[in-house]
Amino acid sequence: MGVSDMNLQGVLDDIVAELSPRLGEGRVATYIPALARVEATHFGIALRTREGAEFRAGEAGRAFSIQSVSKVFSLALAMRIHGQDLWAGIGREPSGNPFNSLVQLETEQGVPRNPFINAGAIFVADRLVSSCAHPREALREFVSTLCGEEIHFDEEVAASEAATGFRNIALANFMKSFGRLENPVEPVLDLYFHQCSLAMSCAQLAHGMGFLCADGVNPHDGRQVVSHRQARRINALMLTCGTYDAAGEFAFRIGLPCKSGVGGGIVATVPDRLSLCVWSPGLDETGNSALGMAALESFVSRTGLSVF
Ligand code: GLU
Repeated sequence: MGVSDMNLQGVLDDIVAELSPRLGEGRVATYIPALARVEATHFGIALRTREGAEFRAGEAGRAFSIQSVSKVFSLALAMRIHGQDLWAGIGREPSGNPFNSLVQLETEQGVPRNPFINAGAIFVADRLVSSCAHPREALREFVSTLCGEEIHFDEEVAASEAATGFRNIALANFMKSFGRLENPVEPVLDLYFHQCSLAMSCAQLAHGMGFLCADGVNPHDGRQVVSHRQARRINALMLTCGTYDAAGEFAFRIGLPCKSGVGGGIVATVPDRLSLCVWSPGLDETGNSALGMAALESFVSRTGLSVF
């Protein structure tokens, strides 16, 4: 069955109804005040088909802190600018270590395993600082263009990230000590902390990730964002590295490229068909949204839409 023949609004409504008894499951991230004060009971889900049909349920229009979901946007922008050269300094393998681990970076001489662990995202931020006169604005404008509307940083979150980001500061300095960063650590971390602070809703994220299910074409203006091959590669990285140490479990239970963040958002793509985003701030022990994962599993079993 094609997606246009499916009752996708009904599917999203049924997922909200199915999960409503579980609202509040998991624990919100508490490392900064702006995340700690978010109620665990929020839940939103939105999707956008490749053809442009949009469906929403729950709090799909409410903005939240996208955190590590931003790593998809920064990677896409860096791949667009640097092409194949980007891969000279970064790997494409799952890390099997915590997302902010220093240990692996030491044994692998400061080369991050993949762009979705923090070290990898800091490396990507460094290359954006090298190539953009105003890197923060370049990233914000890139995301806004993908969404077809202005997207903003949450400056309170960005300031808290900087004030508490000791481990990220350590990762950046560590890579710098191995000669892996081209720029001083300060502007690199400034970009990284700001990208984490982007505030977006499920509807905006489903829209902004649309290029990943459309051969790299921005659904909003029809322009090529990244090449078809690059879009395929971003999806591959999301599937293998996008959900912290639970990528195997996500592939097993859901089978879609996904990227999660500690704000409780998870974006997913059904290649060639649709992009979706679910948000529920309560995290499970792997750092992924507990109900977000449950919602995606329910979505796949209700629609059969999985790459496997
Ligand atoms: N700002 C968080 C950090 O860098 C992002 C964590 C995440 O969403 O994975 O530690």
